[in-house]
Amino acid sequence: AKKEGPGSYELYDKVQGGEALRRLTIASELRSAIENDDLDVAYQPVFDVRSGRMTGVEALARWTTSSLGVVGPDEFVPAAERAGLIGPLGSWVLRRACTEAARWQTGDPVELRVNVSPLQLRQRTFASSLADTLERTGLAPDLLGIEITETLWLEDTSAVKNNLDELHRMGIKILLDDFGVGHSSLDYLTRFPILDAIKIDRSFVADLPTEQSEAVIRAVVSVADAFGLDVVGEGVETTAQLDSLVRCGCGYAQGYLMARPLPPGDVTALVASGGRM
Ligand code: C2E
Ligand code: CA
Ligand code: CA
Ligand code: CA
Repeated sequence: AKKEGPGSYELYDKVQGGEALRRLTIASELRSAIENDDLDVAYQPVFDVRSGRMTGVEALARWTTSSLGVVGPDEFVPAAERAGLIGPLGSWVLRRACTEAARWQTGDPVELRVNVSPLQLRQRTFASSLADTLERTGLAPDLLGIEITETLWLEDTSAVKNNLDELHRMGIKILLDDFGVGHSSLDYLTRFPILDAIKIDRSFVADLPTEQSEAVIRAVVSVADAFGLDVVGEGVETTAQLDSLVRCGCGYAQGYLMARPLPPGDVTALVASGGRM
């Protein structure tokens, strides 16, 4: 780095310093945002591609601060994990989302899917505190699903296993998110028989409808069928991608083509109007 001249260090320090400051600011503001109910949840509808019916929604945390503006979950969720705030953040999202989803059960069931960090599942009390949240909010356990990522399989701790078993026993669905990215292997599906569904990552959906990418999706669907798992295609942005997913036998789809993540009021209206694709 010395060769780059004296200014380089200074610039490097400034960039690093700026990032460190932003992280500190996010951590401290997030702590009070959770305490003061200053976050929101957006809900992205999930559709049954054959019937066109909305079968559920995925809860996605949203946060706008006065000093930083809109901060995306891709930034504040990892920040919460580093700052020891993922427990409180995760509980807040679950409480809020279960409360809102309980109000949408006026006709056909509307399933709720919530993203859960591996760190939450390492907490021994996770399953029992979730049972408590369901009881308080009145949402039926079989209408709730948690979305977990493959990184979780790598840390095969007893707390994680016990929590997943307990959730499964309660009737809560378990979905494998971002399937196909990272270390995905068929081995996971045999080692974790508690899975209910897999979500095909949007990077795969984005490649549709080429012959090669369809071959990949078909293979995933046929494995999922063998294991009795539902398949959800994520990040569907074009009708060509949707048609291709249907051709490949994928049962459910989610994406901007059908619906963006919506404020809860818009979901209420969608539910009232029958919630079709
Ligand atoms: P994810 O679970 O894979 O969620 C899907 C992301 O894709 C969401 O981004 C969603 O808004 C976006 N998306 C949906 N349809 C489309 C599409 O058609 N095209 C494109 N380009 N994007 C689409 P978002 O809301 O920014 O969330 C990012 C990630 O943050 C999520 O990825 C999830 O891993 C995490 N996250 C969000 N909320 C929570 C939460 O409450 N708890 C935890 N632990 N993680 C969360
Ligand atoms: Ca997800
Ligand atoms: Ca995903
Ligand atoms: Ca993701």
